Amino acid sequence: MDERTGVESDQGDRETGTAERRRAFVALGSNLGDRAANLAAARVALSGLPGTTLLAASRVYETAPQDVVDQPAFLNQVLCLETSLAPRELLRAGQAIEQARHRGRGFRFGPRTLDVDILLFQGVESSDPELTLPHPRMFQRAFVLVPLAEIWGWAVGMPDVDVEGLAASLARDQAVRVYGGAKA
Ligand code: AMP
Repeated sequence: MDERTGVESDQGDRETGTAERRRAFVALGSNLGDRAANLAAARVALSGLPGTTLLAASRVYETAPQDVVDQPAFLNQVLCLETSLAPRELLRAGQAIEQARHRGRGFRFGPRTLDVDILLFQGVESSDPELTLPHPRMFQRAFVLVPLAEIWGWAVGMPDVDVEGLAASLARDQAVRVYGGAKA
């Protein structure tokens, strides 16, 4: 295990750079500390994973908390990565990045320094609770669907879902707004 990235050492033919690269959409969220810096650190860390390239990043959105409403507002962003990591390796790497950012292990849906969720992974569906794909709550949440719709043009091998239509419909009831009007 690489302590920095949380990636298992079994790299297979990744060592030779010939591993298949697949796309993944990843959601970032933060509502504690320097939220924009937390998202920026996650982008840098994800881009630096072995065999991984950051293809696209949505704008950053600010959203009111859902589920547990008595907590600070979140910043949210969705990234499209291309990676030779396996889905579970990407999950572990995301968890290591969360830990490195001192994510408080509070309660479910509560405040967090950094949340890294895998939304979709090219060609993969899974009902395993450790890694459910597509992410189980993504299609109900405007703060995921609205930024995802921005970069949906990068989708390859993803479920046939009307992401733009769903995002527009969810955004009618759930307030999401561009944060600072620029990419953070
Ligand atoms: P959360 O509180 O959202 O960070 O949830 C973390 C838990 O969700 C971990 O135990 C993960 O193994 C699990 N999990 C299941 N599916 C996913 C997914 N698609 N992306 C990230 N974590 C997931």
